[in-house]
Amino acid sequence: MKKREFLKVTGALAAGTVISPFTSCNPPANSDSNDSTNETPVSFTQPKLNFAFNALEPNIDAQTMEIHYGKHHAGYVRKFNAALADAKISGKSLTDILGSLTDDGKTTGLRNNGGGHFNHSLFWDIMTPKGASAPSGDLADAINAAFGSFDKFKDLFSTAAKTRFGSGWAWLSKGTDGKLFVSSTPNQDNPLMKNLVEKTGTPILGIDVWEHAYYLKYQNLRGDYIKNFFKVIDWSKVGANLKR
Ligand code: MN
Repeated sequence: MKKREFLKVTGALAAGTVISPFTSCNPPANSDSNDSTNETPVSFTQPKLNFAFNALEPNIDAQTMEIHYGKHHAGYVRKFNAALADAKISGKSLTDILGSLTDDGKTTGLRNNGGGHFNHSLFWDIMTPKGASAPSGDLADAINAAFGSFDKFKDLFSTAAKTRFGSGWAWLSKGTDGKLFVSSTPNQDNPLMKNLVEKTGTPILGIDVWEHAYYLKYQNLRGDYIKNFFKVIDWSKVGANLKR
């Protein structure tokens, strides 16, 4: 899926301010002001869900979805916008902002909340009630090339998700060499934060393993949550992310 299509699907082309994790927070193109002291105020907003809160049942329960999307992700967006305002950052894409972060202790708000916004936007987008059995086409080829087989990839990804101590994410990403790799990051970090992670790349699939993502339904059984996550992955979206 191209950027434009992603925006359409996520309902992110609302009038006025911009929006998606994959676009910038520039003023709208039709802004008639070039005066930086009089810039149209802009902010990032949450993409709409492509499905109802209960649509991923029984694999992901409705209450978890409602709280996760409506409270957690919404909170990250709100705090990210506040952190951007504090840092006087505007006109930069989310990926550029995340890629520029350093471990200087001054950008924790941007790191946690910008990461939280990107990560959750990707997470909602690569899940579907319809599910899909396996990747196909270029994505299947890339997975086989990098890991040997889909099953080997699945084992590696699941282990990364299971063994992330505390809160964080496991990822399938496209590396700077174009090859796929699996990694895991703490908190709301992700492989776009090139100064902060071991392996840099563009995430095309991610699983949230914070307890807030599964505890209501699965309690301590993170492994069962990971197993069932595979039943709701939209591999066509992951394939589109690979091409982007
Ligand atoms: Mn989360």
